[in-house]
Amino acid sequence: MAKDEVIAAIATPPGRGGIGVVRISGNRLESMLRALVNTDVAPRRAKRAAFRTADGGVIDQGLVLFFPAPHSYTGEDVIELQGHGGPVVLQLLLRRCLELGARIAEPGEFTKRAFLNDKLDLAQAESVADLIDASTVEAAHCALRSLQGEFSQRIDAMVRALIELRMLVEVTLDFPDEEVEFLEQANAHDKLADLHRQLAAVLAASRQGSLLREGIYVVIAGEPNVGKSSLMNCLAGEELAIVTDIPGTTRDAIRQTINVHGVPLHMVDTAGLREPKDKVEKIGISKAWDEISKANLVLWVSDATCPETRIADPAVVARLPKGVPQIVVINKIDLCDQKPATYAGENATEVALSAKTGAGIELLRNAMLEAVGWGGSGEGLFMARERHLQALQVAQTHVEQVSVHMPQLELVAEELRLAQGALASITGEFTADDLLGEIFSRFCIGK
Ligand code: GDP
Repeated sequence: MAKDEVIAAIATPPGRGGIGVVRISGNRLESMLRALVNTDVAPRRAKRAAFRTADGGVIDQGLVLFFPAPHSYTGEDVIELQGHGGPVVLQLLLRRCLELGARIAEPGEFTKRAFLNDKLDLAQAESVADLIDASTVEAAHCALRSLQGEFSQRIDAMVRALIELRMLVEVTLDFPDEEVEFLEQANAHDKLADLHRQLAAVLAASRQGSLLREGIYVVIAGEPNVGKSSLMNCLAGEELAIVTDIPGTTRDAIRQTINVHGVPLHMVDTAGLREPKDKVEKIGISKAWDEISKANLVLWVSDATCPETRIADPAVVARLPKGVPQIVVINKIDLCDQKPATYAGENATEVALSAKTGAGIELLRNAMLEAVGWGGSGEGLFMARERHLQALQVAQTHVEQVSVHMPQLELVAEELRLAQGALASITGEFTADDLLGEIFSRFCIGK
């Protein structure tokens, strides 16, 4: 990124809207501001103005805001033009900015500049995108807490603890006579145990938070006609999948994301698993297996009135993914006067319900969250990304190695150094350019 380049973008979504915003960031934007609005604009105060063409004509009128560096989102001079939210007028305004020397911003480039100018750390910058992408209220709350720095503060506290431990170890290495006594006096052992606890707590909160961010991929499988599509419709609360009493109706996978206590569950209804009767059904069944192989949770649906559907064909059971939690749904209990209930089955939780009447559906919703380890509340979680989880795990492994290496202090020092590096990568203290490219390219334009 050339530091002197001025960037501009339409920051509001495409289409028509009440207002539309063009945002500009760069160094020394006073002359561009003057050319655009031809009036004095006090810092950080909205001013009504006409947005002008080169020959003094008017493109639009609206509000202009000027945020001089360093007190702006990006840390550079920022101009915001709030005009009428129509695609043509916004394009004209953007074109005018380009004429004045700006170039179109890349996705996430405003936030990338904010990161490079130390307005945000990397975890906070990522949470900006997570907040925009949040699909549930809980996910939005979680992302906002990270943006406000809660996650970063916990990481920084652990980095500081590691630095202190490293100092103690290095001093002891430099003055070998004092050896381990010195470490004992400085309570190094307790400090290490405390760091261990902190890491475990942040990792647990981050694992839970990542469920909020990524959601859970749930595949509904079972023999034909047991009520898979009906279950999907019941969970989604609308008629999505075609329900018929003709076996083999669902040929293609049908998808729907539902929100259960704030956790996005990406549900997929698949073709019934049986010996295919025709070519199309064969393709449907093969797709069903593809979906099952990617699942985080499999709902095996059976029919309460046909016990043989309950225990799947051993050939089918053998193909179900190992280690992936399963729930056996005993559907159609309305036909046999069974009460809705959850049972701890031998290999999987069993939930008796009726997709037709809705009885027991809430039990299934709770069982699904429990099966994937959801702790039951969005409070106190961090909306971690895979990259954060990996770094936390790496740090945890190195911290665990410390006790293994004691009292070989050279090795201990190295483990502590590696743990610190892993944690610091979360907030972006040392970050490779290609990682930055990867992170910011997923942002929307204008952010
Ligand atoms: P799929 O082939 O497994 O997707 O099954 P469908 O959802 O298409 O349902 C097959 C038949 O079972 C349809 O006639 C549904 O109306 C019926 N069905 C599904 N769930 C229930 C239920 O809970 N109770 C009753 N009585 N019928 C159901």
